[in-house]
Amino acid sequence: MPRVKPHFKLHVSIQNHQKTLGVYADDALLAMYTRIGVMAIERFADRTGDSFPCSAKDLCRLATTWPISNALRKLERLTTATPVRIDCLCGAPAVPGDCGSCGTPAAFRLSMPNFAKKQGFKERNGAETGDSPTPDSAVSPSTSQEHALRACRAEPQVGQDSPAETFLDEHPKLLNLLSKQTGDEAEKRAWLNDEGPVLEADYKAGRGTWMQLTTRYYRRYLQGQRKHREAGERERLTAAVRAAEEADRAAAHAS
Ligand SMILES: [Zn+2]
Repeated sequence: MPRVKPHFKLHVSIQNHQKTLGVYADDALLAMYTRIGVMAIERFADRTGDSFPCSAKDLCRLATTWPISNALRKLERLTTATPVRIDCLCGAPAVPGDCGSCGTPAAFRLSMPNFAKKQGFKERNGAETGDSPTPDSAVSPSTSQEHALRACRAEPQVGQDSPAETFLDEHPKLLNLLSKQTGDEAEKRAWLNDEGPVLEADYKAGRGTWMQLTTRYYRRYLQGQRKHREAGERERLTAAVRAAEEADRAAAHAS
């Protein structure tokens, strides 16, 4: 039997899937989405938690624009429209220059949630994928910077790569529906992840559209106790603790 060459699968459902609405009809978005998928295949993202490290040059190539600030701006349209995520290797938001959190200059991680499963890798490899980075592969980049990226990537990432997806990972666009509502983003995220299963169940039961259910239920939440109001503060504290732990680890490593 002839060997099937490596390929990225674009599902038919991309045309109307809730997670990729608007992508198919938009030349730039569809092109970036496809290039990212091809690069994810090349870099074995299925073995590394559905994500892969990439450089500023990679992102410019994926966005077909230059410099990195423009590439990030263009890619942001895609990350808004789909579950695709671009972060610094430390998990902080991607920025064109030095990362404000870890100080690393332009080293990124691109994530396509559910990549291995959707591309059909999980069935072949068994249930678990992505637990150990595999730096040695035929196409792995060999520059010292790429090695550094991979070494950095091998560090445990608290809160990243967790197999259990949050509701918001599955439905990133719902956050946009709340943009005009009271509350900061952290509160809205926490609420969506908490209320997600109810929204999903009611949507499937035909009780309304995503937009109707999300805004209606969020308004109801605003009228109540707003128990997620402190979510932003909790996130900041968690991030601070994490940064301190990482600094300790780095110091222990250096001595
Ligand atoms: Zn960083």
